[in-house]
Amino acid sequence: MSFPVYLIGARGCGKTTVGKLLARQLSYHFCDTDQQLQQQLEQSIADYVAQYGWDTFRQQEHHALLTVTSDNTVVATGGGIILRDDNRQHMRQSGTVIWLSVDHQVLANRLTADPEIGQRPTLTGRPITEEIFDVLQQRLPLYQQAAHHTIDANQPPEKIVIDILTALSRDSLTA
Ligand code: ADP
Ligand code: MG
Repeated sequence: MSFPVYLIGARGCGKTTVGKLLARQLSYHFCDTDQQLQQQLEQSIADYVAQYGWDTFRQQEHHALLTVTSDNTVVATGGGIILRDDNRQHMRQSGTVIWLSVDHQVLANRLTADPEIGQRPTLTGRPITEEIFDVLQQRLPLYQQAAHHTIDANQPPEKIVIDILTALSRDSLTA
C-alpha cells in the first residue's frame, strides 16, 4: 500500500493529532490541508474567510487538497472538505478515506478546551458549542458518502491509530 490516506471528520475530531501518529506508524509523510492553506493564503483562515467569504475559501481549500495529495502520505483535512463533490471524488479515487467519527458533546468539550480556537472561524456566527450539533447533522451524510472506513474516534489517539491500521490491513488483504 502506498496510496494517500485521508482523514476526514468534524473540526476537533482529531485529524491532525491522529494523522501525525498514524504517519509515524506507517512511515508516511504527514500533511495537513489547513496548514497548506495557511501557507497559500498568507493569513489566518479566520481573517481570509472574513475578507473573501466561504466560497473563495473552499476554492483555495480544493487547491490545497490537490497540492498535498501524494503517495505515502497521511493527509489531515479541514472539517468542511467533504462539502465539495470534487473533493470527495478526488479523495475516494486517489486513496483511502477514513472518517474519524466523534459524538457531538465530545467535540464540543474538545473545542472549548483547545487554545487554538481563534484559528477556527465559527460557521454561523453562533457560539461554537451551539453550532456543532447542527453542522454535524448536516454533514454526516457527506462524511458517510466519502468514507471507505468509519472509525470510532471517541477513544484515545493511540487506540484510534490501531483501529485505522487494522482497517487498512484488512483492505490490503482483500485487494
Ligand atoms: P482536527 O485536526 O480534527 O480539527 P485536532 O487534532 O486539532 O482536531 O484536535 C482538536 C483538539 O482535540 C486538540 O486539543 C487535541 O489535543 C484534542 N484531541 C484530538 N484527538 C483527541 C482524542 N482522541 N482524545 C482526546 N483529545 C483529542
Ligand atoms: Mg486539523
